[in-house]
Amino acid sequence: MADTSFIDWPFFDDPHRAYLAELSAWCAAHDAELRAETTDVNADCRHLVRLLGEAGILRNAVPAAYGDTAERVDVRTLCLTRQTLAYHAGLADFAFAMQGLGSGAIGLFGSEAARAAYLPKVATGEMIAGFALSEKEAGSDVAAMAMTATKVEGGWRLNGEKTWISNGPIADLLTVFARSGEAPGARGISAFAFPTATEGFSVTEVIDVIAPHPLATIRFDDCFVPDDHLLDEAGQGFKIAMATLDMLRPTVGAAALGFARRATDEAMARATTRHLFGAPMADLQLTQAALADMALGNDASALLVYRAAWAKDKGQPRITREAAMAKLYATDTAQQTIDRAVQLFGGAGVVSGNIVERLYREIRALRIYEGASEVQKVVIARAAIADFQSGTTQ
Ligand SMILES: Cc1cc2nc3c(=O)[nH]c(=O)nc-3n(C[C@H](O)[C@H](O)[C@H](O)COP(=O)(O)OP(=O)(O)OC[C@H]3O[C@@H](n4cnc5c(N)ncnc54)[C@H](O)[C@@H]3O)c2cc1C
Repeated sequence: MADTSFIDWPFFDDPHRAYLAELSAWCAAHDAELRAETTDVNADCRHLVRLLGEAGILRNAVPAAYGDTAERVDVRTLCLTRQTLAYHAGLADFAFAMQGLGSGAIGLFGSEAARAAYLPKVATGEMIAGFALSEKEAGSDVAAMAMTATKVEGGWRLNGEKTWISNGPIADLLTVFARSGEAPGARGISAFAFPTATEGFSVTEVIDVIAPHPLATIRFDDCFVPDDHLLDEAGQGFKIAMATLDMLRPTVGAAALGFARRATDEAMARATTRHLFGAPMADLQLTQAALADMALGNDASALLVYRAAWAKDKGQPRITREAAMAKLYATDTAQQTIDRAVQLFGGAGVVSGNIVERLYREIRALRIYEGASEVQKVVIARAAIADFQSGTTQ
């Protein structure tokens, strides 16, 4: 039985509690459909986006007037959704998360025309979204980006290649970042809303990873985007990328927490029913130590994740430090928790198809994308040093 005591913490309001109960019931009723896999991950993902759209769950990924009833995206609701979906099926969490990541910058910084054109369709699942920041030589080092945006009459021409793009093979809409050259490095990047039906766009390589999901290298050959598809002002792309990631990093921690809670429940069920040396495994003190670490890790992760989400929802303009702590701690801890669960299952833990085996593969990439763990440590250290120097710590 999943532990939901966290929902009584003061980070939440009653509508969150009602939403979690409703979502949990919906996920339990649709568990088989959420977990169904075919050999075509693109088709599976499209199906999940449609399913989540029809259920109204995707509405939470976009701001008011375009889907959700709240004025802006509620980060606690995003986190509750990701945690709950990840508990059931990694691909369902992915399908939801990408609608938020792919459209988040458009919601925050897009023109009214771009918001009205795309957000309602993202909210219903009619359009599948993606976020195209990384390049072969610009992953952690975003400012090394080479793709270009050149100003022309009425808009911009995009040229270059992006890689590791989640939903790349199936996205209808991308948030794309390109070097527009107002200044060197991070200050010369712009962001655009980009419909993939645009002439000159292509998928050049499909990437197969340990926990399959739609992933590709994509190419832009002289693609035209109109002026109203520029997000904010030219040269603001790096700031836009970081503000979007700030908002969404706690949700990566929430997904990790969902995986970890599932691994914990699977391990609890195993340890209390499997007999070793004439008694349930759970009677062995070393098993108890493993279960204790798992429970402790889950609560500590939840505190960091929901602290960050609450701070954002309460109006803190940037949550860079809180978001980095939540992502770093929750993803690293979930990895350890899932590894412990695999160990408690013994040989059965590494058999293909066992839930803990699947979780073991699914958690890994979360420690790399949206800023690897080392990047989060750098962010936290910079913020802590700045706080110390400005005298806000004792
Ligand atoms: C499954 C998956 C999905 C992804 N989806 C998307 C997507 O939708 N859109 C998108 O734009 N990108 C996406 N990415 C790309 C992802 O954001 C990058 O892989 C990530 O930023 C790391 O970049 P890199 O792979 O080039 O590794 P590198 O930048 O070469 O870094 C390699 C390693 O160096 C270490 N490192 C990094 N910085 C430091 C530092 N300051 N000090 C010490 N060590 C450091 C980290 O361990 C890092 O993993 C995805 C990646 C994966 C694996």
